[in-house]
This record gives sequence, C-alpha cells and structure tokens, in this order.
Amino acid sequence: MDKIPSFQKNHNVLQPGMYFSTLQQGVATFDLRFKKPNAGDYLSPAAMHTIEHLLATALRNGKNKSDIIYFGPMGCRTGFYLLTVHTDYRAALCCLKDAVRAALAMDFVPGVKKAECGNYRSHDLAAAKRELLGYSDLLDSITEAQIEYEQKKFEEAK
Ligand SMILES: [Zn+2]
Repeated sequence: MDKIPSFQKNHNVLQPGMYFSTLQQGVATFDLRFKKPNAGDYLSPAAMHTIEHLLATALRNGKNKSDIIYFGPMGCRTGFYLLTVHTDYRAALCCLKDAVRAALAMDFVPGVKKAECGNYRSHDLAAAKRELLGYSDLLDSITEAQIEYEQKKFEEAK
C-alpha cells in the first residue's frame, strides 16, 4: 500500500502555518496548520466545527469563490485542508486572509439549523474566533521568503 503524501510529511518538525501540499489534476491542496502536531494543544471539536462553517461560508462568498473546491478539517484537529483551482500559493494565501477576516466579522454561525448541519448543537463561536484570531496573526507573520519558498514548491509541482 502506498503511503499517501500527507503521511510522508514529517509531522515532528511541522509548525503552524499555511503550506502548499500537492497539485493533482489541476487541484491544489493547501495545509492550513493551526496547531503544532502532537504538542498537546488541539482545536476543540466544537471550535473546529464552527471554523468549518465560518470559513467555508467566507471562502465560498469571496472574490475567488469559483476557485474553491473544498475546505474541511483534519481528523487530528490540528488544522484544515483547502483545495483550490487556478490559485497558486500566493493567491490562495490572499484568499485565505480575506476569508479569515470575513469570518472574524461574522456574529453568527451560518448553517446551524438542525436541517442544515449533522451535529448542530456542537458549535462554539467564541472559541472559533479565538482560534481564527490567532491564525490570522500567524498568516500575517508569514515572511516574503516563506511565501517564495511555498510558491516555488507550487511551481515545481506544475
Ligand atoms: Zn455542521
């Protein structure tokens, strides 16, 4: 059995950030790492679920909404995956920053009626916003050198 790309990444050295993962059939996967793996601090299930609702809504209403293929949580509760088309690292980072800002401005959780969600009681807007605020600061701290490094990985995958 082949080891899939996300298991080949060395999680012992992975820091929170946003990383380019793969480009397959024109679809780019980005690793939105909120938490350092295996460090004892994880997203709570309710915060992660609310972030999923907020950011999915923001991404799909943003100016690049037609380029968003998928956004969803990692089972290990240390981050999310963002799948896009026509979006290199730099453009995806820009989309994500806009979406995080839009999510932080929401004062309600979209899609939380019982008919709209599979676990509608499991939400925590305050905790989701705390996590998003931290991640927003982290995205703003990504240096030009780091952007160029991820952009180069993206270009090499084409
Ligand atoms: Zn839901």
